[in-house]
Amino acid sequence: STEIVQETFNTSMSNIPRLRRSSVVTEIERLKKSREQRRQKQAEKKEEKEALMNSFPGNPNWQFSVMIKEYRSTLDLKPLKDSDPMKQCLITVCVRKRPLNKRELAKKDVDVITVPKKDLIVVHEPKLKVDLTKYLENHEFKFDYAFDEYCSNDTVYKFTAKPLVDTVFEGGMATCFAYGQTGSGKTHTMGGKICGKSQEYKGGIYAMAAIDVFEHLHSPKYEHLKLIVTASFFEIYQGKLFDLLADKATLRVLEDGKQHVQVVGLTERVVNSVDAVLNLIHGGNQARTSGSTAANPTSSRSHAVFQITLRSSRGHQIHGKLSLIDLAGNERGADTASGDRVTRMEGAAINKSLLSLKECIRALGKKGAHLPFRGSKLTQVLKDSFVGENTKTCMIAMISPGMTSCEHSLNTLRYADRVKELTFSSDGEP
Ligand code: ADP
Ligand code: MG
Repeated sequence: STEIVQETFNTSMSNIPRLRRSSVVTEIERLKKSREQRRQKQAEKKEEKEALMNSFPGNPNWQFSVMIKEYRSTLDLKPLKDSDPMKQCLITVCVRKRPLNKRELAKKDVDVITVPKKDLIVVHEPKLKVDLTKYLENHEFKFDYAFDEYCSNDTVYKFTAKPLVDTVFEGGMATCFAYGQTGSGKTHTMGGKICGKSQEYKGGIYAMAAIDVFEHLHSPKYEHLKLIVTASFFEIYQGKLFDLLADKATLRVLEDGKQHVQVVGLTERVVNSVDAVLNLIHGGNQARTSGSTAANPTSSRSHAVFQITLRSSRGHQIHGKLSLIDLAGNERGADTASGDRVTRMEGAAINKSLLSLKECIRALGKKGAHLPFRGSKLTQVLKDSFVGENTKTCMIAMISPGMTSCEHSLNTLRYADRVKELTFSSDGEP
């Protein structure tokens, strides 16, 4: 019977005019093809989803990961390029996201941060509805620049501290802060890539700034000023200063009759080359980390201040000063409820200094506003960088991308947001 059906079919087909027959065949083939394509696409999608699921075995957060992936697939990513124009700001606030590290990848931590544009960052906060369905709350923050995980230290430097070198040669006071939770990349950015126990200082902001300082010093534009370059390096821990270039000697901070703040006895080394600066950074960092262990890194609870000062060769007056600051981990500021007394005291000191810092930078943006620099040792020693005629400040907010850091990342971004927002609310607190 099959044969007969076949026969009939063939006969009927042969009866159709030639043109019509070929168009029917084409149509059938087209439909078949599109069906196959559709099936293949579905299979691919299924495979992709399965691969995604299998890449998070036992990870209860894979659904968030899928949602974030879906969100990203809708974006037309336009990251910052080295050739992008620089902004001329009195206060520059930017953000840097580091890549997930090996430990986070091993723990299958989910990357909850997206940098869609050169000045935009999005935090995908994982949330649960009352019925336990998962959803994302996407928080957008806009800054002067947003550096994604592919950005190098060179690019970060170009848009942040590099313009400050010009400021100090023009006789100004400039500061650059690395702000963020412990492990977010402050030391990596300021001091250079960390490789086990050593650090590649050459690739950090401290060293890159030093390179530019010596280039400027010998340039036709500034050569005739015959400036002397000096460097200092100290640490602020629990409101006390320690000289990193003098075996952590304790330093006193005094305000003289003219209301100039003096750090009594601070080592200020004359430096004549980039290598001399690198040596000095190395020595200071060794002093900084001595006595701390991997489990208890004291460096995350202190602010490190590295300063390059330009002085006139006659009279040694300050011509300009660049302060580069690796701040204490901001999450420590929340340790004020800790059961441990030392931790609580450290937390209180960090909290106080980071709040004063925020207020001082905000006051800087609002010329004539009260400058609460006495609020902490950090802001007190930086007074001349807040009150001068020609002052510039840059803050780099560092972000750890992991879902486990989400809360801290939001705190960091909210702080940075308030630093940039230049109006006070009536009660003085945002
Ligand atoms: P913090 O000083 O804020 O506590 P670190 O600079 O010590 O953080 O960084 C923590 C870890 O992450 C280090 O191992 C560092 O090498 C790594 N890291 C930080 N930022 C980056 C980055 N942009 N790219 C690659 N690794 C980074
Ligand atoms: Mg650090």
